[in-house]
Amino acid sequence: MSIDSVKDGVVVSMEYTLHVDGELLDSSDGQGPLQFLVGYGNIIPGLEDEMMGMKIGDSKKVVVQPADGYGEFEEDAFMDVPRDQFPQDMKLEEGVELTVRDNEDNARMARVDRIEGDTVTLNFNHPLAGDELHFYVRVVSLREPNEEELAHGHVHEDGHHHH
Ligand code: ZN
Repeated sequence: MSIDSVKDGVVVSMEYTLHVDGELLDSSDGQGPLQFLVGYGNIIPGLEDEMMGMKIGDSKKVVVQPADGYGEFEEDAFMDVPRDQFPQDMKLEEGVELTVRDNEDNARMARVDRIEGDTVTLNFNHPLAGDELHFYVRVVSLREPNEEELAHGHVHEDGHHHH
């Protein structure tokens, strides 16, 4: 079976750039094309949806609104936590990213927004929440995933494999 277009269950290799407010934030330049398995939430839905049906060599500009990207910026996604709730040896300063477990034991990413006295304010917004994302993507190649990749729901490739 040959794969001729982007669809669920296919591994896409793509070159891309990401601009926000006219500023280049991310790009495949220098690190090589990004590979991802389609249909498993590996990239933001607004971009994946627009890439469906693209063929090898196709390129496209895609503008993704916050709701289909990293979410709206939520004013109430901040939480004050006493300093002594964190491990003693944890280095806490503004901008530090950390993983917090909520009451249902889900891991959530947060950043230290500010520290005032013994109170650490965490920001649970994604760093790109509220931003309109301007992608330029080019499909470099398409392939079938191997069994392990399919079982894990993501690509196994040096530099891009993380659990
Ligand atoms: Zn894996």
